[in-house]
Amino acid sequence: MKKPIRGTREWAVANVDCCTGCTHDCRYCYARYDAVVKKGQLSSEEWKECLVRESDVLKARPLYPGQVMFPTTHDILPENLQPCIQVLRNLLEAGNQVLVVSKPHLECVRELCKEFTDYKDKLLFRFTITARDKSVLDFWEPGAPAYSERKTSLCYAFDQGFETSVSVEPMLDTSDVVTMVRELLPCVTHSIWLGKMNKIDERVQIDSDTSVLFVERIKAGQVDSEILLIYKELQDEPLIRWKESIKTVVGVELVSEPGLDI
Ligand code: SF4
Repeated sequence: MKKPIRGTREWAVANVDCCTGCTHDCRYCYARYDAVVKKGQLSSEEWKECLVRESDVLKARPLYPGQVMFPTTHDILPENLQPCIQVLRNLLEAGNQVLVVSKPHLECVRELCKEFTDYKDKLLFRFTITARDKSVLDFWEPGAPAYSERKTSLCYAFDQGFETSVSVEPMLDTSDVVTMVRELLPCVTHSIWLGKMNKIDERVQIDSDTSVLFVERIKAGQVDSEILLIYKELQDEPLIRWKESIKTVVGVELVSEPGLDI
């Protein structure tokens, strides 16, 4: 039987990165879990300092046989913006279709729009906007921009004429997700993706009573009955797309090859 297509493979045939670590320090981050917990390559404090890997910045990039995602194990930050621009330039000049995924900082998005104004047909922004509630975002994504900055960034790229999409994966506040999606839709040209938080017990460190409560809230919010309610509300919105974690609950067919779910 073929392995199910999950995570970034739903969106891209290749993942490109040029840094290790990420100041956003999300508690559910699979890249953080992999580097800090599973492989012990760096400490949790070191993870919060984003280190640029110069050799990956300078590397020539091939033309991939489908959409390429950048970045996947870090983010585009004010402190690594120029190296990220260089990698994007290398990918775009090789003719690639590039999916830029980020919890966006407005100053970075302004610069990216300016630098890549000639590549509007080759670059698709996908901004990760997981909740509106500040206390929820502060707990799960302590170093990432606030909701207002992410929404402003999305609408800025939209106003500049870029293709825009949103990833609500993981949904951090399922009770508000339908309202949030409807608020973001006017600045979206391409798609809004919804997905659950995966492998919570493996990846999320329980280090306080507060973390127990937040984890319980996520789990309660993504039981099948809640997912079905969200699906019912949004299934007729043409730009809404479902990640594998939701498709399996609601009975939508999974993709069979990487990078096809674009
Ligand atoms: S922004 Fe992405 S790469 Fe950075 S910590 Fe959060 S999930 Fe991980």
